[in-house]
Amino acid sequence: MSSPSIVWFRDDLRLADNPALRAAIDRGEPIIAVYVLDEESPGLRMLGGAARWWLHHSLASLRERIEERGGSLVLRRGAAARVIAELVTQTGARAVFWNRRYGGPQREIDTQIKTDLRDDGVEVRSFAASLLFEPWTVRTGSGTHFSVFTPFWRACLALPAPRAPLPEPHELEGPSRAPASDDLDDWSLLPTAPDWAGGLREMWEPGEPAARARLREFLRDDLAQYDTARDEPAAGVTSLLSPRLRWGELSPFTVWHAATAHEGSGRFLSEIGWREFAWHTLFHFPQLATRNIRAEFDAFPWPRLKPTRLAAWQRGETGIPLVDAGMRELWHTGFMHNRIRMVTASFLIKNLLVDWRRGEEWFWDTLVDADDASNPFNWQWVAGSGADAAPYFRVFNPELQAKKFDRDGLYVSQWARDAPAEPIVDLGETRKAALDAYEQMRRSR
Ligand code: FAD
Repeated sequence: MSSPSIVWFRDDLRLADNPALRAAIDRGEPIIAVYVLDEESPGLRMLGGAARWWLHHSLASLRERIEERGGSLVLRRGAAARVIAELVTQTGARAVFWNRRYGGPQREIDTQIKTDLRDDGVEVRSFAASLLFEPWTVRTGSGTHFSVFTPFWRACLALPAPRAPLPEPHELEGPSRAPASDDLDDWSLLPTAPDWAGGLREMWEPGEPAARARLREFLRDDLAQYDTARDEPAAGVTSLLSPRLRWGELSPFTVWHAATAHEGSGRFLSEIGWREFAWHTLFHFPQLATRNIRAEFDAFPWPRLKPTRLAAWQRGETGIPLVDAGMRELWHTGFMHNRIRMVTASFLIKNLLVDWRRGEEWFWDTLVDADDASNPFNWQWVAGSGADAAPYFRVFNPELQAKKFDRDGLYVSQWARDAPAEPIVDLGETRKAALDAYEQMRRSR
């Protein structure tokens, strides 16, 4: 009798450099690959609309690749603890392997499942695959975690270099009878009424093969200009790898080793370092999306929300061309250039005086790369309440930012040609109001 191994896929929708999958192959028994859509376990954040679109297509691609190699991908929906336990019982699996997750609720779920399965005599192993450095391994001299990026990244680079990526398997033997699977279409991850995903389809092809192709293309064609032009949204020289890393279609180890083989990749790799920093911050501060890291910001006097202002920002109808261009790019493609993310976030928080959490929620729903760490981390960075954050009094002026980073107006004319001409607020007055509010917060300490 064979005793299959279960590989539980989560935010690692790839075959290459997948240590959990590799361990199952090495065990030499048939493999059951499973993905669980968990919308029930407490504490998990429901996926946003753009993320659901990406997940659908990435799962379809992964399933095809597994089937080409002789296996199958089992799709199940429900609380992960129940679903995995059922699958173990149904299949007689004696081993369950997965790659680690770092969010608070996810860690609780995984720890509980590990304990329960081990109590039943099932072998359970977890692996490092989504971060280059495990959060508990990067420590200050006094043993605490870092709250400033530069020393954090220096400490990471002083650790043993990230391991080489593992090769992709060419064969995957499934059990003689594949366990029942949900139909992906029944999960209704794609928008239908209305189908707003046309712009996403134009821009993206989710899945591991396209992710690897983009990595190669970026290193060949764009990396050389990355240092000088990465802040210009119209230059198109950034990697566009964020959704690939978010969904684990590419591992950071693969990116790391491919990039270090190229001259002048230090700046790009330090951006990968910011991703690590965001995840390490989430590991140590699991309430990142809801609570200010710097508690003094709890006293910030946010005025009552004006829904029309929030809606104007969301729709790209603020009358500030660079902001409107960014918000329209986001709505159309599920993506926004980093510089413009900073500008639009600053405008919402500091010119419209809207709590950063409302903006974070909108990005969460509309970004294809929205993740539990990078999104709230960066919103808190702009708000001034986060780790190594921009000081609150640094208010981006979107007009100056446009002059500096969109000199020829290419980006604005691509996305905001028909945007309103009249600004909904005065930049100078609202900047002053924001600084006054900040002073009030400081005085209330
Ligand atoms: P590149 O410049 O090519 O960078 C390479 C990789 O480094 C990125 O793919 C990404 O994985 C990582 N990276 C770069 N900058 C950052 C950063 N500041 N923080 C964390 N990782 C970074 N990034 C997300 O992946 N998911 C999010 O939900 C997200 N939300 C953001 C919200 C705000 C308000 C801001 C200001 C930034 C946010 N970012 C987020 C970070 C950054 O904007 C994107 O990672 C980047 O624009 C993706 O484009 P790229 O892949 O071409 O980046």
